[in-house]
Amino acid sequence: MEPFKKNSVLVYEEVKAVKFFLWTFYIILVPYDFIVYYIYPYFNKVETGLPYGGLGFYFHLLLFFLLPAAIIIIKKGYPEKVKYMYFAAFILLDTINNVLIYWGSNKEFNSGHILEVYFILFSPIFVSKRFFWVITLGFSLKYLTIGLIFQSAKVLFALGLILFISIIAWILLSRFQSYITAITSIYEDMRQKEKLAVIGQMATAIAHEIKNPLSSLKGFTQLQQEKDNGDEQYYPIMLNEIDRINAIVNDLLILGKPNTAIKKPQKLEEIIQYVLSVIVPHAQRRDIDIILDTKTSSVLLCDENQLKQVFINLIKNAMEAMPEGGTVTIRIESQNSGIKVSVIDEGCGIKPDQLAKLGEPFYTTKQSGNGLGLMVSKKIIEEHGGNLIINSELGKGTDVTIYLPVP
Ligand code: ADP
Ligand code: MG
Repeated sequence: MEPFKKNSVLVYEEVKAVKFFLWTFYIILVPYDFIVYYIYPYFNKVETGLPYGGLGFYFHLLLFFLLPAAIIIIKKGYPEKVKYMYFAAFILLDTINNVLIYWGSNKEFNSGHILEVYFILFSPIFVSKRFFWVITLGFSLKYLTIGLIFQSAKVLFALGLILFISIIAWILLSRFQSYITAITSIYEDMRQKEKLAVIGQMATAIAHEIKNPLSSLKGFTQLQQEKDNGDEQYYPIMLNEIDRINAIVNDLLILGKPNTAIKKPQKLEEIIQYVLSVIVPHAQRRDIDIILDTKTSSVLLCDENQLKQVFINLIKNAMEAMPEGGTVTIRIESQNSGIKVSVIDEGCGIKPDQLAKLGEPFYTTKQSGNGLGLMVSKKIIEEHGGNLIINSELGKGTDVTIYLPVP
């Protein structure tokens, strides 16, 4: 839940945590000091009252003055700042108090306040690692300084206690956070699946409706082109655009339908050779070399057309990542239980936060992209019992690796 985002639900949660924190803060502060400075000395027949020379009641009064400030800060919409304000105020007042009491006196330093333990132990309710570190390091630093100033060994005990409590708080905090992460990722997964299911249904329906009008549109455009022979300006563009719509429709049909693969034994190299024969002329025009690096020869049980589409998608992506030209390497290696094919480019690479979004339909960073290519490829590969893994380094290149089982 860190970094803190201004989301109304999160703000509400933070306000709840702050209220709980404030209540317990004062509930602990008052009775604790009363017991330590009045009840305990009374029963031990020593002098009662707050330590001589310190801030006395002003220590408590000032801490109570923080309350209106906290309420204003919460009302202004910054509830996440309240805990830091309390910590800063507490450590400041406590240090001043200690300096006033012990500076120049021969009294031995009396170890810390229960509120320090409270701060650390309750830090997990804010589910913020930053706050945890700020207070743990803050209190440790305070004791180190006091230990140096007053040359007191008692701080060692306080430091040990802080360390011990911090470890407990850290464990709680980590558990909270990993629990939240798990729930978020389950939710994210569900959302993704739901989105896919809806898109699947819509896609199949729409794609079906579009396919027939599209093919007659293409037929008539070709006829018209023949009639108007000589006009080479617009027809090629129109036909090209119709082909593009057709490609999108085909992608959507693959995504929407359950397994449609018609599998036959095929040589993988032949499929890739075919794809290269189509793509290499385009690549040459864009200063891109495509290297096929085959170490094995293997027969797969697969749908030839679907695998062709996968490699067209991947090689096109690789080429589009290298507008200045470069080399695409297609490497085929055998793996213990199957075959591994990598399409490696030297292109722009993918940012880590984008990498997470690649599973989403229609996610694209290209002006004329449709964001379906990778999804379609992944679906086809998974329907072949394999998987597709993307590794990328920003500015260095991308490696899309496919694992496919061999019968
Ligand atoms: P499209 O190519 O239509 O954008 P894809 O599903 O094929 O859709 O790819 C989605 C996005 O993934 C691309 O827009 C691009 O940002 C990123 N991507 C895919 N392959 C590569 C690659 N080889 N190098 C860099 N980015 C890539
Ligand atoms: Mg693509």
